[in-house]
Amino acid sequence: MNSINADLHCHSVVSDGTLTPEALAQRAYQNGVELWSLTDHDVLGGQQRAKVAAEQLGMKYLGGVEISVSWMGQTIHIVGVGIDPENLMLIEGLRKTRDGRSARGQEMASQLELVGIAGAYEGALRFAGNHELLSRTHFARFLVEKNICKSTDDVFKHYLIEGKPGYVGHIWATLQESVEWIKAAGGAAVIAHPGRYRFTELQKDELYKAFLAAGGLGIEVITGSHSPHQYEEYAKIAKKYDFYASRGSDFHDSSESYIDLGHLPLLPSHLKPIWSLF
Ligand code: AMP
Ligand code: MN
Ligand code: MN
Ligand code: MN
Repeated sequence: MNSINADLHCHSVVSDGTLTPEALAQRAYQNGVELWSLTDHDVLGGQQRAKVAAEQLGMKYLGGVEISVSWMGQTIHIVGVGIDPENLMLIEGLRKTRDGRSARGQEMASQLELVGIAGAYEGALRFAGNHELLSRTHFARFLVEKNICKSTDDVFKHYLIEGKPGYVGHIWATLQESVEWIKAAGGAAVIAHPGRYRFTELQKDELYKAFLAAGGLGIEVITGSHSPHQYEEYAKIAKKYDFYASRGSDFHDSSESYIDLGHLPLLPSHLKPIWSLF
């Protein structure tokens, strides 16, 4: 079961990716993915299209989402795997979570204007496939288009992050809410790319315990955001806290993402795959 090429984390134009759900399904299939999930940020608009496209190709599909969460003053992401996209509690929770992205975008643009970058709101919006889901990624693409930065990676070093121009703090869902909505929709909650968070060891321990207490089940071990060293580090964490383990590229775009769909190493054989629950 661990040897299945499962990719349970990626983004389409419905959030901040650049491919349609259909094109992503095609790409995943061509790259050998056997079990796939589209996990757009805070939105389920691509789920039906992704499922239909996957199943037409003969690829297994699990409903997915990546929820923005505020915890201890930082933003973390909780992925829901195997969710029912028709679930009303999840739909309403995500709608609430998305609210405020436009106002935040306006504020980001005002800040950028102060450092001499005009028209960022309209500019970012042109990159957004879904105007309800205006993301920092869309602002990053605008800054690259304007030759202010050479890549979106570069943008996230000099802009849009805490302490840099264009960063606007935001309160997202709570950890408990995110897990509750995912569970209500029949899914399993997974901590996304844990290696990216800047918490102390003590805070991380608290996060894992609070997540388990809320009914969370899994953690991403093999993700496009982790280095090979972090695969080992989070495999140990999965063992220590008895988490199910997940694997996902976090693919957004062929020129921005280092890791393509389905190309990551397989899940280590001693871990319990999150997909064994479905
Ligand atoms: P938002 O939900 O609007 O705050 O945007 C978050 C998105 O920005 C993430 O899902 C990533 O796609 C992108 N992002 C955030 N931080 C980075 C980073 N350091 N490098 C590259 N992309 C990032
Ligand atoms: Mn993203
Ligand atoms: Mn994420
Ligand atoms: Mn993601």
